[in-house]
Amino acid sequence: MSMSSVIRPRAAVIGAGFGGIALAIRLQTRGFDVTLLERRDKPGGRAYVYEDQGFTFDAGPTVITDPSAIEELFEASGRRMSDYVELLPVSPFYRLEWESGFAFDYVNDQASLDRQIAAKSPVDVEGYAKFLAYSKEVFEEGYLKLGAVPFLSFRDMVRAGPALAKLEAWKSVYGIVARFIQDDELRQAFSFHSLLVGGNPFATSSIYALIHALERRWGVWFPKGGTGALVDGMLRLFADLGGTLRLNADVERIEVEGERATAIRCRDGWTGRFDAVASNADVVHTYEKLLGQTDRGVRKAKSLKRKRFSMSLFVVYFGLKRHRPEIQHHTVLFGPRYRGLIDEIFNAETLADDFSLYLHSPCATDPSLAPPGAGSFYVLAPVPHLGRAEIDWESEGPKYRDRILDYVEKRCIPGLREDLVTVSHFTPHDFRDELNAHLGSAFSLEPILRQSAWFRPHNRDDAIANLYIVGAGTHPGAGVPGVIGSAKATAGLMLADAGLA
Ligand SMILES: Cc1cc2nc3c(=O)[nH]c(=O)nc-3n(C[C@H](O)[C@H](O)[C@H](O)COP(=O)(O)OP(=O)(O)OC[C@H]3O[C@@H](n4cnc5c(N)ncnc54)[C@H](O)[C@@H]3O)c2cc1C
Repeated sequence: MSMSSVIRPRAAVIGAGFGGIALAIRLQTRGFDVTLLERRDKPGGRAYVYEDQGFTFDAGPTVITDPSAIEELFEASGRRMSDYVELLPVSPFYRLEWESGFAFDYVNDQASLDRQIAAKSPVDVEGYAKFLAYSKEVFEEGYLKLGAVPFLSFRDMVRAGPALAKLEAWKSVYGIVARFIQDDELRQAFSFHSLLVGGNPFATSSIYALIHALERRWGVWFPKGGTGALVDGMLRLFADLGGTLRLNADVERIEVEGERATAIRCRDGWTGRFDAVASNADVVHTYEKLLGQTDRGVRKAKSLKRKRFSMSLFVVYFGLKRHRPEIQHHTVLFGPRYRGLIDEIFNAETLADDFSLYLHSPCATDPSLAPPGAGSFYVLAPVPHLGRAEIDWESEGPKYRDRILDYVEKRCIPGLREDLVTVSHFTPHDFRDELNAHLGSAFSLEPILRQSAWFRPHNRDDAIANLYIVGAGTHPGAGVPGVIGSAKATAGLMLADAGLA
């Protein structure tokens, strides 16, 4: 029998976020016939792209870390990443700025880091070295060993227990940083990272301190053409492998017979039968809506809704007539409060008056993302999710946007209003309505210890044997490297279950 006459098992992957696309590539490579179904008109999920008057705005991820995980994905398909997308190095990784006037260039150069730390707080040079050593250790244990391993049984968790205990995983990221570093602003500089994957530095497990070592190890990168070019490159690979992408395919239901998923039904009436189904859509949406007709779906959605969800984000995309070369690619503008503000974002029922912001200026690395001489930007503020604060974003949104732009103009882009060519914003309501995100959370389940690894939704459903989950809601969690790791874990299970491993 020739290979071409072998019938390939059929897999559906619901959602073309980074996790869904990476899973689809791995499955198509190894013998599944994959259909990737995305409800929006363009793929990417959180990494959607807006284009307006010659400006290109990456909607979400902009800090690309661990390029080795992306390279490995291409290599697993016998291809080279560089044939599909070019990654450009970004330095400094971030510029961090405080209202006090203190600024810190977070670079991958030990001498420069030591010099900057010494100028601010001499005792912290040694403290930083100890923090880096700690961060490297968690990185080895938590990321290299366990980042792409599915936690299906409690035994897997118990096995990881001694390492977690040794690393004091019950402590918070901030708790660990504060042990090593004395200066208040430097403590902020080395603890804010967990916010990038939806974690409160004061509550998230110290395991997330690994992000620092991960960035020092592999650097910070930006795809030429923007994050959207990485999405496009991965989808070109998927197409080259023979996979099928269906856009505007709003999945309404996963059909289940007995303990098996059998088919997908879309809102426009399209249906398809599959041997295996994986969902990259929000986990609550998957169980509550797509499996709402089953007992399993109802029960699982109920238990998931009792969990804690990450904060949401308010994002303002804006294009300026003039590029501002003095603005680094990634800037964090710390506001007047740190702990107090973060506490309100995660726990209060109102919108704080002050904010801490992340400012994206991609033209610092790739001028092609705006018309000649112009600059595209986005600025985001973490805000409470919809289950916490009842904010009418329809009326509050434009006001909040204006307050943010005024603040950015005052802090670092004088003349912003005068140069404004285009502006739009994305609110927690948009996370809910556009992305089906439960409570409008930007990062799914909050990454706290009791919601990590085995305690996160599993990469294979416990009851429906051929139903799988991939993306930010599963192990290891949000962030581009996280969801690409989750795709590897989920693909391993699907291939083994189908006898293709
Ligand atoms: C503003 C912002 C900035 C960020 N910055 C960074 C960063 O700099 N670096 C980093 O590493 N991470 C960053 N992140 C986090 C990162 O973007 C996400 O964790 C990651 O992209 C999530 O990928 P995912 O695979 O879980 O899928 P998602 O991106 O959530 O995609 C899920 C897809 O499923 C689709 N879908 C939902 N329901 C259905 C349905 N019923 N039928 C069909 N399709 C459906 C959605 O439309 C969506 O396309 C950022 C996130 C945001 C929001």
